[in-house]
Amino acid sequence: MKKYNFTAGPCILAPEVLKGTADACIEFDGMGLSLMEISHRSKNFQKVMDEAQALVKELLNLPEDYEVLFVGGGASTQFCYMPYNLLEKKAAYLNTGVWAKKAMKEAKLFGEVVEIASSAADNYTYIPKEYEIPADADYLHITTNNTIYGTELHHDIDSPIPVVADMSSDIFSRVFDPTKYAVIYGGAQKNLSIAGVTFVIIRKDMLGRVSRELPTMIDYRTHANKGSMFNTPPVVPIYTALLTLRWMKANGGVPEMERRAKERAELLYAEIDRNSLFHGPVTCKEDRSYMNICFVLNEEYKHLEAEFLEFATARGMHGIKGHRDVGGFRASCYNAMPLEGVQELVKVMQEFEAAHK
Ligand SMILES: *Cc1c(COP(=O)(O)O)cnc(C)c1O
Repeated sequence: MKKYNFTAGPCILAPEVLKGTADACIEFDGMGLSLMEISHRSKNFQKVMDEAQALVKELLNLPEDYEVLFVGGGASTQFCYMPYNLLEKKAAYLNTGVWAKKAMKEAKLFGEVVEIASSAADNYTYIPKEYEIPADADYLHITTNNTIYGTELHHDIDSPIPVVADMSSDIFSRVFDPTKYAVIYGGAQKNLSIAGVTFVIIRKDMLGRVSRELPTMIDYRTHANKGSMFNTPPVVPIYTALLTLRWMKANGGVPEMERRAKERAELLYAEIDRNSLFHGPVTCKEDRSYMNICFVLNEEYKHLEAEFLEFATARGMHGIKGHRDVGGFRASCYNAMPLEGVQELVKVMQEFEAAHK
C-alpha cells in the first residue's frame, strides 16, 4: 500500500531528493567518495554551497543586499541569535503560537519585549489583526505559519521597523515580497531539507546592529563574511536542500508551489467543512494554513478519535495525529505532498463518515 507522509516535521521530501541524497552518501560527484567523507573546503562541496545559495536567491527573488546563510542549531537556536544580534533596547513580538512564545522568551534575556498582540487566550485559533507596531523598537518578530495550530499569515506586513520572520514551515510555499523582511529564518526540515541545517536570510544592513560584544559563532557577520563556511557546515542537509531547490525550480518555482499548496488545501478544507463528523479548529477561515491543515471531531463524535487515527493509518495516511495542544488531526501538506495524497485522505474521511453517521 502506498503511504502518504503528513508528518509536521521532519517531513516528506520529493522522491528524487531522497534518492539523490542517498546516492551522494555512497558516492558523490563521481569522486569515488561519499559526500560525508570529503572536505567542505573541496571544490566539489563549494559548488554545492554556491549553487544552493544562488538558488535560494533566485527562487525567492532576493535583492542583491541579502545574504543566505546555512547554519546549525535549528530555528530554536535562532530564537536566541536574533535578539543577541539585533536587540539593542526593545523588540516587538506578535504572539501567534508556541514557537512565537519561545522566541519571545529568549528575547527577554536581551532587552525589553513588547507583545503587540496575542491570540493565546483563544488557543491561537486566529492571527491577531489589530495591533500597533512601536516605531522605537529594534525589530518586529512574526511567525508566518503556525505549524501547531494551522494558522498562516497569507500576506506581508507593512511595518515601520525591520521585520524578522520565522518562516520554518511555509518558506517556498508562498510568493512574498522579500523587501518587506529584514531577516527570514527557519529550520530546513519542513519545506527545504532534512534536520540539521537552518537557513538565515539576512539583509546586509542588519549585520552588526548592537553595541554588545558577540561570541564569534553567534555573530551573523562571522558567517556572512565567510560565505557560510566559517566552520564545517552541515554538508549533507545542505546538499539535500540543493536537491530540493533544484526540484522546486524544475517544477515551476515558488508560484507553482503556491498553486499546488492552495489546490491541496482547498480540497481538504472543503471536505473538513462538508464532513458531518469533523470541523476545523481555526476560527478565522482566512487564517487557515495551506501547509498544516488541522481538523477535529465534532463533540458528539469525539469518542471516535483513536478509531479514526487507526482507520486512516491503516489506509496509508502517516503522521496525521494532531499536536497535543490542539488535539484531533493535522495533515501537514508541505511542498512535496502530491495532490493524490490529499485526495486519498478525503476518501478516507468520507468512508469513515459513511460508517459512523
Ligand atoms: C518546527 C518549527 C520551529 C522549530 O524548529 P527547530 O529547527 O526544530 O528548532 C520553529 N518555528 C516554527 C514555525 C516551526 O514550525
